[in-house]
Amino acid sequence: MSERTLLMIPGPIELEPAVTHAMGDRQRGHLDPRFMAAFSRTLKGLRGVFLAPSAQPFVVAGSGTLAMELAVANVVEPGEAALVVNTGYFSDRMALILERYGAQVTHVRAPPGEVPSLDDVKKVLASAPFKVLTVTHVDTSTGVLAPVEALAALAKEHGALCVVDGVCSVGAEALRMEDWGVDVALTASQKALGAPPGLAVVLAGPRALAAWRARKTPVRSLYLDFGEWLPVHEAYEAEKPAYFATPAVQLVSALDVSVAQLLQEGMEPRFARHVRLAKAFRAGMKALELSFLPARDEVMAHALSAVRYPKGVDAGLVKAIAAQGVTVAGGLHPQLKATYFRVGHMGAVSASDVLAVVGAVERGLAQLGATHDRGRAMAAVERALAL
Ligand code: PMP
Repeated sequence: MSERTLLMIPGPIELEPAVTHAMGDRQRGHLDPRFMAAFSRTLKGLRGVFLAPSAQPFVVAGSGTLAMELAVANVVEPGEAALVVNTGYFSDRMALILERYGAQVTHVRAPPGEVPSLDDVKKVLASAPFKVLTVTHVDTSTGVLAPVEALAALAKEHGALCVVDGVCSVGAEALRMEDWGVDVALTASQKALGAPPGLAVVLAGPRALAAWRARKTPVRSLYLDFGEWLPVHEAYEAEKPAYFATPAVQLVSALDVSVAQLLQEGMEPRFARHVRLAKAFRAGMKALELSFLPARDEVMAHALSAVRYPKGVDAGLVKAIAAQGVTVAGGLHPQLKATYFRVGHMGAVSASDVLAVVGAVERGLAQLGATHDRGRAMAAVERALAL
């Protein structure tokens, strides 16, 4: 019997069987009409997922970090100013990428578990012109959710492009790219899009494409240049052959199926399901008297939770939970990683999955002699689910 465990980390996530099956087909050529049709559906579908009817999708082989590079490499030129709204590990990574592409980076930081205040961001934006403002929608290292709508409005008001790292949010958290005036939103296939790792997904809105067209210097990386990818993506969308670099045929085929599943559920019901299940999970943790890394309810993500270890417990809890058949993740924030664990509850996650993970946390704590009242957390989850 194969070992049956439930994967509840913040990506990669459990896949729906139809998504996995899509990769088991015969190898198709990248210009096979069935593949071109799948790529076309995927590109059109992504506009629905990002709620961005006017944006240009790019789907390129690579991980989320490549998606970050794809965004930055095209819209920023050497010497331009970038403002990083910094909520942790992945905002720091965005700054490193911006610097590699020659940008002058200013950070607006918050203590771990918080988001920078809008007033602080406003002050910096008013102090000098910025080409871009970047924000990590959900910082996977801390479980903090940033106010993207308000930040995008501030960026627009001050003439900066708004780039959103949505690797841990797209497909789970409400993100209305076009309504909110987000210029570039990016993600990767392995999180709430519900596909295997390996695809970088970037949607560029009209202002971002105009900024790329108006560049005075060439994009430094050939593989990342919108100029190479745009004709290919336009052709694939029209189901016409084109080539720049071989697409990841199996992964795009899997993404085609998962994007269709997302749209079938509907984005608004999907956002609401993530809110409901995140609240149920947290009700279970609260019943175990556990607290969270995000400082306030308003800054808590719905795609994952970062839960502090109780007194006397360390990362051994992650192993104890694994022994109960559920895989969760340890901490990631460089200074705090020994003090908390992370649970992903995104994608096709169900109420049963939430009960399973909360039960495993409860049993793991009991195994370590750190909890008493067994069943209390499960009851709290049941109550939250009944609301
Ligand atoms: N940004 C965020 C918010 C992430 O969570 C991650 C991955 N955990 C990345 C970027 C980088 O993605 P990848 O690991 O796929 O390169």
